[in-house]
Amino acid sequence: MERCAECGAPAEPYSCDELFQVLLGLDHARREPWGPLHGVSVSCYLLQHPGRLPADGGARARDLLRAYLEGGLDEVNQVVGRARRGNNHRVRGGSARRAGDGVPPQRGAPRSRFSVTLHEVAVDGSFPAAGFAERVRGWAAATLGEWGRGA
Ligand SMILES: [Zn+2]
Repeated sequence: MERCAECGAPAEPYSCDELFQVLLGLDHARREPWGPLHGVSVSCYLLQHPGRLPADGGARARDLLRAYLEGGLDEVNQVVGRARRGNNHRVRGGSARRAGDGVPPQRGAPRSRFSVTLHEVAVDGSFPAAGFAERVRGWAAATLGEWGRGA
């Protein structure tokens, strides 16, 4: 069976990219349970597909997942708020970095496949609401676990 070269999930019947588009569509409808978990979902996806990571090499995505696993969405919102304030400050200071600058995105990225991938979260490709939050939590834990081992 064909597998995703980055996260190791089966590439059939849906590729990771196809599933991610479905998930983004659900997120953007701002409905429960998907909308509030948007930042967590995107962070998991990027960290399991390191070729797509921004210039910080995934540092912010890992902070977000750590916050989620430790304190849930309240903690995530605090991290996001802090990052937003920090970004504004950097922009005003004129030293904002563009994506592609700086840290090579693959540094520290795990090479092995992940025990929980987007495919487990998607179930049948539709990301059912029932148990979604629990599956995302498992996804976050598997993602951070692999990164912790590689760092
Ligand atoms: Zn993948």
